[in-house]
Amino acid sequence: MLTQINGLHHVTSMASDAQENNAFFTNVLGLRRVKKTVNFDAPDVYHLYYGDKTGGAGTVMTYFPFPNMPKGHRGTGEVSQTVFAVPQGSLGFWQDRLENAAVEGISTAERFGEKRLNFHGPDGDGFALVEVASDPRTPYGDGPVPVDMGIYGFHSVTMHLRDAAATAELLKFMGYKETNQQGNLTRLAATDGNGAHIIDLEADSDAPRAREGAGSVHHVAFAVKTKEAQVEVRKALLAHGVHVTPVIDRDYFWAIYFRTPGGVLFEIATHEPGFARDEDVAHLGEALKLPDQHAHLRARLEKSLPEIAD
Ligand code: ZN
Repeated sequence: MLTQINGLHHVTSMASDAQENNAFFTNVLGLRRVKKTVNFDAPDVYHLYYGDKTGGAGTVMTYFPFPNMPKGHRGTGEVSQTVFAVPQGSLGFWQDRLENAAVEGISTAERFGEKRLNFHGPDGDGFALVEVASDPRTPYGDGPVPVDMGIYGFHSVTMHLRDAAATAELLKFMGYKETNQQGNLTRLAATDGNGAHIIDLEADSDAPRAREGAGSVHHVAFAVKTKEAQVEVRKALLAHGVHVTPVIDRDYFWAIYFRTPGGVLFEIATHEPGFARDEDVAHLGEALKLPDQHAHLRARLEKSLPEIAD
């Protein structure tokens, strides 16, 4: 069993409108845009990152906004809900805030003894806020949401699967332990976690397969601290029979990817070097940053990428 993974690193989804996406995460949810760059594999599309002050691992929601992309259809083989942790007693504040912003899909629920507020993102993305008693992370306090109500970072993701068994086994190999089970829901958690260390598996053998589009999660990334830890994890996964990509340089972290038995794409990403690699913490996310391999496209991209008003 691996011990290097301590929770989520980031979650990456697709959107249909960069401006609308940016406004939702910064103005409504109060996260900080910590990087404005492009999809390294398709540089005509932005890659926008939202998180805490520095974009710490376990706080970063990222998007590829493909203009006018049709909405995805929820189903099995995908992350159906991305869940953020908020302070105890803050859900009333959040319900008012989301209702005032005309956010859709708002409902309250409880799961494994935790109160949660479900809601949809601009493209029907599945989100929830969960109250947690304590969290080692500090919410971003310089945005429109007061720091004592703010989002700490991720709490968990829910994966909606035809059959959860093989994915549960893989997560256990990655260092997760089953902590709760109720009906078709299984909760796993990483020991020595980073706050974003819970995964819920929802098994549903009759549901249709998901169709990917705007509002769909593209992949979910797990955190390891160093490149050395990532190499150890990669070797162990290969020896376990998992088809893992070589290490890919994503400028702000190193990444490896593999498709899981339930259909969800996993990534393992390093803490290092982080988002302050190419701009000061005080100005994170302000300028358009391009990786070296796409630097020659700057003039064209500055014209063609849609404007994002801050
Ligand atoms: Zn990623």
